[in-house]
Amino acid sequence: MNAVEINNLVKVYDNKFQALNQINLCIPEGSFFGLLGPNGAGKTTTIGILTGLVNRSSGSTKVFGHDTVDDFRQARMLIGLSPQELNFDVFFTIEELLTLQAGYYNKNIKEAKERALEMLEYFNLIDKRKSKARELSGGMKRRVQIAKAFIHDPPLIILDEPTAGVDIELRHQLWDFLKEQNKKGKTILLTTHYIEEAEKLCNEIAIINEGNIIANGATEDIIKDMGKNHIIIETDFNNSNKINDFNWPYTKKDNELIIESNNPESDMVKIINFMNDKKIKINKIKTKQSTLEEIFLKLTNEK
Ligand code: ADP
Repeated sequence: MNAVEINNLVKVYDNKFQALNQINLCIPEGSFFGLLGPNGAGKTTTIGILTGLVNRSSGSTKVFGHDTVDDFRQARMLIGLSPQELNFDVFFTIEELLTLQAGYYNKNIKEAKERALEMLEYFNLIDKRKSKARELSGGMKRRVQIAKAFIHDPPLIILDEPTAGVDIELRHQLWDFLKEQNKKGKTILLTTHYIEEAEKLCNEIAIINEGNIIANGATEDIIKDMGKNHIIIETDFNNSNKINDFNWPYTKKDNELIIESNNPESDMVKIINFMNDKKIKINKIKTKQSTLEEIFLKLTNEK
């Protein structure tokens, strides 16, 4: 079953600005899915439509088979949302905030309190339970926000830029927590413009730019299919004649030969043999594959 199915989704703001142009996206249950794109690409709009915060203009959006408009309540019950902006009621303690949140999802007061304490314990916030959100550090606030998304134990968790403005230590803690939750079966949809985050966490990604999905698939396939491999050989070019009948197109940078290759393992052997035959000394040899960030920048700058 797909956790999310988006078909021909269009969003036009104020009858004039088209933020999403007929996008299609499938997020299989159990996946850790990254929706990547530069600022203004349409990520928050997409999430807003899935969670009922933004009206779609046309097309369909389903969460575990429930239409997010016609079947809004069922669809929304299955989603935990951590929005990009921290939004806490300033008058409540974080224990009250979480209890209230559980209450929104049909828990009675006793169950809601128990669940709130359980989440505070889990997120290492139990000592702060009587504090108001404004009295907490940025990292603690982010943890409360994510605890809110998990409070009713939904199968789909949507996190909009969860680590924006978060320090490295907390970022790693959150990554570990999310990986563990995904292993336990939660489907996670994460938006980020921080590509390293997606590369580390997501088994599937879609790249969105100016309201269009411009790449979608398994992260490793995207890197393999759209990226480039290079073999980099550090050598000396004292005798440049020797290199003349070198069969591979290469560029030279200082004392490095950089060779683009679709098949670096076998090309590397051939190149080493060639260099040995020509008695050209190799000082160092290494391979380099494009990172997701390089692919992302190339795709989003192409237009
Ligand atoms: P992202 O989350 O990828 O940064 P958004 O979905 O927030 O992108 O925005 C996509 C585009 O839609 C942007 O050009 C943004 O200015 C525009 N947009 C977003 N919300 C509104 C709104 N409420 N009214 C008008 N335009 C909007």
